[in-house]
Amino acid sequence: MPEGPEVRRAAVLLDDALAGKPIVSLSTRLKKTLAWLDANGNPFPGRTVERVWSHGKWLVGDVEGGLHFASHFLMWGRWQVVAPDDELAVTRDRRERARIEVPDAVAVLLTAPKFRLLDGSPYAEGGPVAHLGPDALPYDGPEAFDVDAWHDRLLSGAHHERTVGAVLLDQTVVAGIGNYLRAEILHACRLDPWTLVGDLTDRDLACLNREIPRITAYAFAHGGRTIPPEQVERMRGNSALHYGEAREHNLRHWVFRRTNLPCLVCGDTVRQKKQVTRRYEDAEGNLEEKKRPIYFCPTCQNTTVDLPPVRKKKRTPSRRASADA
Ligand SMILES: [Zn+2]
Repeated sequence: MPEGPEVRRAAVLLDDALAGKPIVSLSTRLKKTLAWLDANGNPFPGRTVERVWSHGKWLVGDVEGGLHFASHFLMWGRWQVVAPDDELAVTRDRRERARIEVPDAVAVLLTAPKFRLLDGSPYAEGGPVAHLGPDALPYDGPEAFDVDAWHDRLLSGAHHERTVGAVLLDQTVVAGIGNYLRAEILHACRLDPWTLVGDLTDRDLACLNREIPRITAYAFAHGGRTIPPEQVERMRGNSALHYGEAREHNLRHWVFRRTNLPCLVCGDTVRQKKQVTRRYEDAEGNLEEKKRPIYFCPTCQNTTVDLPPVRKKKRTPSRRASADA
């Protein structure tokens, strides 16, 4: 599932392909966006794409004259850039949700359910990025992470009774962190995912201030990998440290999707457990909970949650063994 680093790579891909070029055509299959085009008479053709960038998990394109396009991948979406004579450009894939054509390239948005068009700032009220917390992946590098803005939101009081594991996924507090980054950040800070925000110490906050932008930037620079090369080599040389064959996708993280394997730091067994990430009332007033699996090392992170006994790693693990529960 794309998180901040993956969305930023898509933004770089589109910026390289589109920026400085006039839009030949822009189209979509999403009903709401079609309605916008109907109401606004599609003002995009003939205007130049100025820049494509991202904030958190939103990708935004600035277009001459104060126009913008914006996409959100949710679970499976992606942008693909091809030549105008490529099969994807010529035949319209059924997964296509939107496309932007410039003279020498076609950018096609596949499966993503969100593609918005707007006239005016994307940060204005109602804009796609208006509600977001500071970006975990600042364009000017990890040291440019807006710690004040993150603390203002985190420590406002509204989140004191929430767990740190839940609040790291809250895009209004800090933007761009998803399930793999939160597990890796909490492990790096030796933090129990069930620690309440109101109980975070100065040491915890100092670590999060540092590790949120550092790990996100590292993942962006290394194709989503969060461990250094020496740990990749260590895993590659020891089949007990990874699932399946020693392939790139199995040798990426400290704890994420390493359930029942040894922690790379202390050797204890990495565990996973579903964690409540959001509580809300449904239409009938019933309290609903949204849960996501969190991966962690009980020893490094000093957790106190109840856990079932460890299941031994299978010799030939099934695909399910390493998949999200
Ligand atoms: Zn450990």
